Amino acid sequence: MHRLYENKDITVFWNSEKCVHAKECVHGSPSTFDPMRRPWIDLGRADTSEIWQSIAKCPSGALSIVYNHDVRIVFEEAYSRSAAYDGDKRIGECDYQATEEGWVIFHTEVSPEYGKKGIAKRLVYIVTEEAEKRKISLIPTCSYAVKVLKDSAMT
Ligand code: SF4
Repeated sequence: MHRLYENKDITVFWNSEKCVHAKECVHGSPSTFDPMRRPWIDLGRADTSEIWQSIAKCPSGALSIVYNHDVRIVFEEAYSRSAAYDGDKRIGECDYQATEEGWVIFHTEVSPEYGKKGIAKRLVYIVTEEAEKRKISLIPTCSYAVKVLKDSAMT
């Protein structure tokens, strides 16, 4: 399961398949990470530095974090994509095609001047989360999406 949690400043990614339940996150910021709560991650309960330090201790890479850099990510089902916006300007997107077998993610791109900020990963995670919530299979053919879904790519 892939989930993405956001507040105004940061985005936290969680890949349940990598979690080894070491609970370093829970010990580091118990108000943010509560396995008994749904959703179990709430970014409104601690400051960014506490959350960041807790995630840095995650031994498995199941959790990762980026700053948002004032870039908004939106799921736009009507266009079969997620899109990244800096104000009104679209600066990135992750496109999929709905097929009988599932959603085929075939393209992920972010404007070069916005690279290395985790925006592409946020784009892929939003599409992945939406597919998983609908119990739709994902078929990534875009090499970047393949990488994100296998490990924790950053660009
Ligand atoms: S620190 Fe990482 S591996 Fe440990 S419980 Fe939290 S998410 Fe899972």
